[in-house]
Amino acid sequence: MQNDYAEITEGFAVDYPMAQPSSPQLVLFNEDLFERLELNWTEEEVLSYLSGSRSIEGIPASALAYSGHQFGHFNPTLGDGRAHYLGTTQSNSPFDLQLKGSGATPFSRGGDGLCALGPAVREFVMSQAIKSLRVKTTECLSVITTGNDVYRQGYVPGAVVCRVASSHIRVGSFQYLALQQDKAGMERLLELAIKRHYPQIKSEGDDRVCDFLKHVCNNQISLITDWLRVGFIHGVMNTDNCLVSGETIDFGPCAMLEAFDFNAVFSSIDKQGRYAFGQQPNIAHWNCARLAESLMLIMAVDEEQALEKLTGVLSDFSNSFNEAYHTMWAQKLGLPDWRDSDSELLSELLVLMKNHQLDYTNTFAALTSLVINKEALFTLPAELNEWLAKWKKRISVFDAVEVGALMSKANPAIVPRNELVEKVIEEFYDIGHSPLLEKWLPLLNNPYNYQEYDQAFTACHTKPETYQTFCG
Ligand code: AMP
Ligand code: MG
Ligand code: MG
Repeated sequence: MQNDYAEITEGFAVDYPMAQPSSPQLVLFNEDLFERLELNWTEEEVLSYLSGSRSIEGIPASALAYSGHQFGHFNPTLGDGRAHYLGTTQSNSPFDLQLKGSGATPFSRGGDGLCALGPAVREFVMSQAIKSLRVKTTECLSVITTGNDVYRQGYVPGAVVCRVASSHIRVGSFQYLALQQDKAGMERLLELAIKRHYPQIKSEGDDRVCDFLKHVCNNQISLITDWLRVGFIHGVMNTDNCLVSGETIDFGPCAMLEAFDFNAVFSSIDKQGRYAFGQQPNIAHWNCARLAESLMLIMAVDEEQALEKLTGVLSDFSNSFNEAYHTMWAQKLGLPDWRDSDSELLSELLVLMKNHQLDYTNTFAALTSLVINKEALFTLPAELNEWLAKWKKRISVFDAVEVGALMSKANPAIVPRNELVEKVIEEFYDIGHSPLLEKWLPLLNNPYNYQEYDQAFTACHTKPETYQTFCG
């Protein structure tokens, strides 16, 4: 393991001791991820490193500084208030290991620095499911109960999550350095980000900065397109929760879209619907604009020219997004190519789905199964009949095998249903483990399998009016 953030700049990574767990117990572990990390730790090392009992030899645990726009409002001093960076693996591709719930830090701002078992389990289940859905994401290596209670609505068991990310470099990390007017620090952070995520960038000077922005924009576009494809609502797309790698991070108030609605919001604190399902592309664009603003600091040309260059890159966002967006819908509908009239076919379907509160995943799974199995997994409502006839006519001009292949790759048969995630959490609170998750996880790990389909895990239970998520 190595320490990649210590040298960015003074105050960027603050060494700080972790809270000591009184009786750490491993309750969830991702074996497959552990192998990919090539750590070769003993069981004793796994438990002590991943619970925060001790730090890795030669690498003091540290909290990283960052700023960020929360719900559109700039907060200069965020940072890891309940997380510690442990170090970066020297595996084939490097990964940061970070503990969450490992105690208060200089960035805690009055918070307790802890994490309850429920949100820890949620992060583990959601990140694994999202990863299996082929969406770029940070992963969870482990959940360890600490033996100490934390106070939320009442006392609940505390836990530490080990988060694994291809980096923890956030838009908010650049905002922090911009605020400090720390040019040298930002240049170092830029080089680390390029080395980790975009080694293909070979340009120099201002072109290098613009190319970086361009790559971040493109990765955000493919991330958001994937979220829309599978029905993921992140819930708190603040700039500090936006990684320049384009991975999903922070599963606090996330939810899956069930009854189709672009305006769907589940987070209890998102009163205005800023982070509603269909708003996510606009917000990603907005976050990239905050990155561009921060990068102004290290542009060599004068301010006016720098602005022109960086806005030039940002102005491609909408066109590139629209292209990716159409490709995504084309795949979901089984169309090898997209023509203008397909927009109408799509919007007719979306209107029907919205008006009849049809489940997003199940509707597309039913369409997919119609093509690949010649029968629908679910009876589609009669209101869809007229539309179905139009769609069948449209896909009939293509090879059915090709249509089926497109659809079964784009449309999951199984997603992490909100109510089931809540049940898993309840089981952990009640009995310390989850029999439900043991049955469910193999299916979540193989979400495009239309052959072993289990109706028990596909019913939609979420009542959009009452289901709420919290930051944890
Ligand atoms: P989030 O909404 O999860 O992205 O968190 C926003 C900020 O609040 C970050 O700086 C977190 O480190 C901090 N934070 C969240 N929960 C806690 C907590 N329980 N104790 C201390 N800091 C926290
Ligand atoms: Mg966060
Ligand atoms: Mg959070």
